[in-house]
Amino acid sequence: MIFFGTGSANIDTKKTKNTVCQHCKTDNSLFINIYRRHAHVFWIPVFPLGKSGSSYCSHCKEVLSQKQMPEDLKMEYKNIKGNAKGPLWQFAGLAVLACLITFVIYSGGKDKENTQLYLNVPVIGDVYEYRANNGNYSTMKIRRVTEDSLFLSLNDYEINRISRLYKIEKNENYPEDTYGYSKSEVKLMKRQGIILNIERD
Ligand SMILES: [Zn+2]
Repeated sequence: MIFFGTGSANIDTKKTKNTVCQHCKTDNSLFINIYRRHAHVFWIPVFPLGKSGSSYCSHCKEVLSQKQMPEDLKMEYKNIKGNAKGPLWQFAGLAVLACLITFVIYSGGKDKENTQLYLNVPVIGDVYEYRANNGNYSTMKIRRVTEDSLFLSLNDYEINRISRLYKIEKNENYPEDTYGYSKSEVKLMKRQGIILNIERD
């Protein structure tokens, strides 16, 4: 499947002044069409590329590329081409991309904020994502909270990519037995980058 390509849009059509068709010799019958090419991804225009165009005679229908035009027509063509501005929709993909980046930055910031909040006020069921000594990733779940300690059940499984933690984050992977950590120990693990994220349903 082709998902990347280019397209073009007609951005201007102008009648020329004081020209004569070199083919049928009709006065003022020549029009200039200007096109702007754009790159598209999945048929969404992403950004505009260069402009091009041609002339055509409304009488004899002869079409000329820039190279084929006589000098006076070429001059007019260049003027019209220089002034032609494309439609904003040729930037649609860039706008979508900008929105996406803004969203990712925003939600990333929100995640960090939440993790800090959850760390300060732990609740039973919170899932801590952490990096194990061997470089793998796993999770642990809060089973009990006391005034100064947390009791966590450690996931039986590890996985080598943090983005795949969801695959092992299942109730049946948490054994009954728990390990107790003081709240300050847990905060230290967060500061040291051992605990990476805290998820709460
Ligand atoms: Zn003509």
